[in-house]
Amino acid sequence: MSAKIEAASANLSNSSISVNPTYFIKENLAKKITKQDCTLSDGTNSSCYVITVKPAPQEHKMGPWCPTNVKDGKDKGGIWFKDGKVYDVNGTFISSLANFYSDPKWKLVNDDGSIRVTTTKAAFEAAARPEVDPRYHNYCVEGRPEWYTVKETTYTIPVTPIYQQTPTSLGRDGIGVAFNGVKFDAPAPLGAILSAHTLAPFDDHGGHMNPRAGYHYHAATGHTKEIAQGDKHSPLIGYALDGFGIFALLDRDKKEPTNLDESRGHFDKIRGYHYHAGKPGSNEIIRSFRGVLPKSTMSDSDKPGGQSRPPRRRRMQSPPGS
Ligand SMILES: [Zn+2]
Ligand SMILES: [Zn+2]
Repeated sequence: MSAKIEAASANLSNSSISVNPTYFIKENLAKKITKQDCTLSDGTNSSCYVITVKPAPQEHKMGPWCPTNVKDGKDKGGIWFKDGKVYDVNGTFISSLANFYSDPKWKLVNDDGSIRVTTTKAAFEAAARPEVDPRYHNYCVEGRPEWYTVKETTYTIPVTPIYQQTPTSLGRDGIGVAFNGVKFDAPAPLGAILSAHTLAPFDDHGGHMNPRAGYHYHAATGHTKEIAQGDKHSPLIGYALDGFGIFALLDRDKKEPTNLDESRGHFDKIRGYHYHAGKPGSNEIIRSFRGVLPKSTMSDSDKPGGQSRPPRRRRMQSPPGS
């Protein structure tokens, strides 16, 4: 007992709450979660959970994303966002994009009222890349889950997160994982999407497809498994790659936390340091990592056919020339 108290007073990070592996939904685990030695990005040795998931939401269906006709209601489409606000992507929304963005070049609707949507895997892959194929400018871009096999992803997450004073920027990939194994992703690349006059709507659950990553979330909308808290605090919805918990935004009184730091986190006595997901319209779940990341955080177990790109590395490799 005294050792515990000493440790707690020695370092703030010892007030960190450990990851609870039993929160993950069993059907979404490809393997039993194991504990393994791991090296963190600062070189220290630590203990990590190795969590291999089959990301497929049990809690909701995926889609829809793009309506196909101007007359379609919001049940035929997902959501889009601007300046922190969420909008239903229905036919009317698609036909008013020129107005919405004050840019007459937007034209996703054909003269017969049909909407230009990527309806094949090839079209989707040509449209859903940083340099959008010019043939797919002015398209509503959606990828269908049935075009892809579900890839297993292995997350290596510190058992007990370690707080660091200086935050680490997010990569362009995942930032965490929901209990259904679906990745919480970094902000969607709005610049690339909008400059090609494309929309890549999220479904009402905040997710969409990506040819490489499969189905992933850009927003926390309260549709996935939540771990309720004993007090008024908002529920836990998943873990960040650094092992800190990600909680929903609003507490039981529908209030947002008021003292979040630049990473979107704060401390409390019960939960230690933890994050609160941004508003669904903010294109931001967390803003940076406050915990020390493992050297290797994520890897896809099987690569989609024809792709041999190595997994993207984070930015903390040795400087060139060293
Ligand atoms: Zn995305
Ligand atoms: Zn909190």
